[in-house]
Amino acid sequence: MVAENSAQRAHSAGVVAARLATAYPQAVCELDHCNPFQLLVATILSAQTTDARVNMVTPELFARYTDAVALSGADQAAVESIVKSTGFYQSKARNLIAMATTLVERFDARVPESLEELVTLAGVGRKTANVVRSVAFGLPGLPVDTHVGRLSRRLGLTVETDPVKVEAELGDQLPSAAWGDFSLRMILHGRRVCAAKKPSCAECVLEDVCPSSTLPTRPR
Ligand code: SF4
Repeated sequence: MVAENSAQRAHSAGVVAARLATAYPQAVCELDHCNPFQLLVATILSAQTTDARVNMVTPELFARYTDAVALSGADQAAVESIVKSTGFYQSKARNLIAMATTLVERFDARVPESLEELVTLAGVGRKTANVVRSVAFGLPGLPVDTHVGRLSRRLGLTVETDPVKVEAELGDQLPSAAWGDFSLRMILHGRRVCAAKKPSCAECVLEDVCPSSTLPTRPR
């Protein structure tokens, strides 16, 4: 029975991935960046705020601190003043400088590729590490943010609320090469259609396979 449920969910995750790939041919990360270091910085800044807000502050930040060496020697107050509008600016500035210092001291001023090494950096959890792995390096990585978690539960792909467990369940259902794009497309769909408070089910390409659709019931 468990195996049957797993197989069913795998099929559903595959269907969801295929539908989203058609709806969003370009699986894009909406954080502006030109290299792994900039993406790492932007992703750390994106906690508790929007990508659009982060994109407003990173041009000045990247112009002033062009790499890990420059950021490691930054004055915290100067970084705080640049990132202030992203919220939690004191801890974000502290983490950015500490992260850059670790890159310089332990990783030859480069961003490491392994999950185990990435999560040792200040301000970097599994979600951020998986963003960097999948978007910057093209490696397997399945970031689970608030959108991915919410959609996965609404679609019946998981009942878990712990992002680490959600990541493990989704990871089991999809080939590792598909993880990154699946996450990016779930985020796009969460922002544009399946909003937290008011999902637009009538406009959703997943409506016929979604057990949480708000439209009049039909056999599913
Ligand atoms: S049908 Fe509604 S609840 Fe289900 S994924 Fe689409 S928008 Fe979200």
